[in-house]
Amino acid sequence: MGDYGFRVADCRLKKAERMKQTTKDKEMMKEKIAQIAAKIKEGGNNVVFTGAGISTESGIPDYRSQGGIWDKYRPVYFDEFMSSKAARTEYWRRWVKDYQVIVGAQPNPAHLALAKLHEIGLLRAVITQNVDGLHQESGLPDEKIIELHGNTRRIRCMSCRQIIPIENVQQRLTAGDPAPECECGGYLKPDTISFGQSMPVAEVEKAAALSQESDFFMVVGSTLLVQPAAQMPIYAKDNGAFLAIINLSETPCDEICDALIRQKAGKVLQEIVKAVEKL
Ligand code: ZN
Repeated sequence: MGDYGFRVADCRLKKAERMKQTTKDKEMMKEKIAQIAAKIKEGGNNVVFTGAGISTESGIPDYRSQGGIWDKYRPVYFDEFMSSKAARTEYWRRWVKDYQVIVGAQPNPAHLALAKLHEIGLLRAVITQNVDGLHQESGLPDEKIIELHGNTRRIRCMSCRQIIPIENVQQRLTAGDPAPECECGGYLKPDTISFGQSMPVAEVEKAAALSQESDFFMVVGSTLLVQPAAQMPIYAKDNGAFLAIINLSETPCDEICDALIRQKAGKVLQEIVKAVEKL
């Protein structure tokens, strides 16, 4: 009995400790949000960098994360796409499925919070690794969005480079054309950066320049594991920017950042923008 009583007491103690810890965590979170909001409100060059983690709350899977689709399917590399009709056919077959998910998705509270920051004049730009177009859908104008990996809602000819209306391509796919081609004979391809395809020079340069000029740089939902993503927060820090990271898992920049929040983006970004508006 005595032993049992001890365990109950022990358990109560642990519960009290846990509650104390939760309260402490909440206070720390409040503090970080206030700190981030104050920096944003200063109205310098506020640059936000987003990755797959911002779109998972919209139901778009994080393809590259563990357990993601690349664990099941080998990606179609760019040179395969350009040299084999079978590879192009496979690529388009997958695109049709992915595209259904993407056009069915809605911007979530995290995208909307960033659009709000733009609305109140406190957002210089969003640099994104995402190809889903949800920043545009949230109301952020094109000129504020730098897409490092392109956009899967856009179709381009790989020879004459012209953009082909997506409805046109969809019609042809539905009619049984497995890998549509351009009038010029070139291969059509969703305008995203495939594995083995070089990064878009203009976008990377623009992203680097924005990062180098930023006073406030916030990473949302990116593990910063690929280049050039990994370099952007370092450019920002070199300029003396305040670096905030909101991501569920560790990033290589956690140690150099000024405010780290390991949470899903939606609620946190909403709270940050609310805090900014109260200042
Ligand atoms: Zn063409």
